[in-house]
Amino acid sequence: MEQSFESPPVKPEKKEKPLHPKLREIVAEFDFSLLADLLHEYIIKTDKNPADINLIPPEKFHGNDHGMAGSYDAKRHDIGLSYDHIWALSNNLDVDTRLFALRTLIHEEIHAATDQKNDSPNLYQVGYDQVVGRTRLFGLWNEGVTETLAREILQKYIQATEPESAKEVSLLLHTLETKQSRRVPYRSEVNFVEIFISFLAKQIGLPKDVVRGGVIRGLIEGQQMDEKEFRSLAEEIFPPDFFDDLEQAGSSLTIKRITRELETKEENYQPRSTFATNSFVRSVKRAAEDYIHATNRMMPI
Ligand SMILES: [Zn+2]
Repeated sequence: MEQSFESPPVKPEKKEKPLHPKLREIVAEFDFSLLADLLHEYIIKTDKNPADINLIPPEKFHGNDHGMAGSYDAKRHDIGLSYDHIWALSNNLDVDTRLFALRTLIHEEIHAATDQKNDSPNLYQVGYDQVVGRTRLFGLWNEGVTETLAREILQKYIQATEPESAKEVSLLLHTLETKQSRRVPYRSEVNFVEIFISFLAKQIGLPKDVVRGGVIRGLIEGQQMDEKEFRSLAEEIFPPDFFDDLEQAGSSLTIKRITRELETKEENYQPRSTFATNSFVRSVKRAAEDYIHATNRMMPI
């Protein structure tokens, strides 16, 4: 089972289960201010004010019986973690349960940090994920990008707090990247994000790292993927119906199919000069320059 942010949110009066004692211990020991600092490095490269980014404090964690390892509730701003699922998944994958729990916690906190806090009761936007009434758009794309960032941050967190666990965390990340198992959280979605970045980088002629930074920036800022300029570019460069499929994707099967479509298209890649005039490409290049300047500003002098 995979985790996701809950939508529509459950009724506020519902009483949640307390955290499993082992998870309570993990949450109590977790360094939330370090996580905030690690996220800060990404947020300062965006238009978001770091003061507007809220993490969920330990007292707002509860036990999760939604059939998922973790969940973030956009309405109540709380996080659920299921010890049973975390234990079962990590055992099945043969990875360290505590590190797997930390990965789940960080994934859910990224949802909280990328919550766009829309005031409308019928619209929730978390990262790229938009829930309008009963319709959910770009949900799996959002999960793929969130999980990509969660793995990167987990590695930095372990480096800073317990460098002696570097080997275990490398093993966990290697397993998540390579194991062909449905138990790997968002395996198809993370793979899709990588292929998407590589495809877009080649098409618009920017380094992959810059496009990757742009994708993470979009997650933090709550970039609307269906805005006109991006859609016009998408119609030019992606396979037919690709964008609608990504927007509506409700299962990993759709994600796998459109990943194959992108890979096939990339094999038959033909450079085209017309993109230089596309306004979206121009704005991506401008954003990339901002990103590079922000990175340079952070370099020690
Ligand atoms: Zn999620």
